Amino acid sequence: MTPNKEDYLKCIYEIGQEHEKINNKQIAAKMQVSAPAVSEMIKKMLAEGLIAKDKAHGYLLTGKGLPLVSDLYRKHRLIEVFLVDYLHYAIDEIHQEAEVLEHTVSAAFIERLDRVLEYPRFCPHGGTIPKKGELLKETYHLPLNRAKKSGSYCVRRIHDDFLLLDYLAKHELKLGQLIELRQVDSYAKTYTIVYNGKKLDIPENIAAQIYIEKKE
Ligand SMILES: [Zn+2]
Repeated sequence: MTPNKEDYLKCIYEIGQEHEKINNKQIAAKMQVSAPAVSEMIKKMLAEGLIAKDKAHGYLLTGKGLPLVSDLYRKHRLIEVFLVDYLHYAIDEIHQEAEVLEHTVSAAFIERLDRVLEYPRFCPHGGTIPKKGELLKETYHLPLNRAKKSGSYCVRRIHDDFLLLDYLAKHELKLGQLIELRQVDSYAKTYTIVYNGKKLDIPENIAAQIYIEKKE
C-alpha cells in the first residue's frame, strides 16, 4: 500500500513528539519510502498549508494540519477499541487493521462507533482519544527515558509497534503495571526496573517508547 498524505501527516506529528527538528531523511526512514517520494509529498503539503517550514523545527504542522492529525488519531484509536472489545483482537493485531480502516470509514461511522463504545478515553495502548473537534493532547507523555528520579511508576502508554509489543509480552510487562525504577545508567544507556519480583534492564530506544506516570 502506498502511503498517502494522511500517513505523512501522522508521521510528521510522531517525529515531532521525539525530535526538536524534523527533516526529509527522518520522514523517509520512518515511512520506508524514497527521498524523492518524500520531497514530492512535502511540496504538496506545504502548498496546501498543512505543514510549514522553518529553521528551528524543519517542518511543523499548521493550524490546518493539526486538526486533521487529531481526527486521524481519533479514528484510529476508536477503531482499535472496537477491534479489541467487540471483535476480540489481540493488542498486537489491531494496528494494521486500524491503519487501513481509519482512511476509509466516514465521520458518521466514527460518531456512532464512539457512542456504542461509550466514549472511551484511551486506546488499548494507553493513547488518548481526542473528543470530536478537539486537538490530540496525550494524557501520558513522560517516556521512561526522561524519568529523572528513581522510584515508583505505573506503565500507562506504549507505542503501538509490533516489535515493542513482542518485547513487552516476552517480559510480561503490561499496561497498568507498577514498576520501580532502580537505576539509570547514563553510560550504558539502560533503565533498570523491578516489577513482580523481576529485574529488567531496558535499553534507551525501548525506554523512549514506554510512557509512565509517577506514583507516590
Ligand atoms: Zn493505540
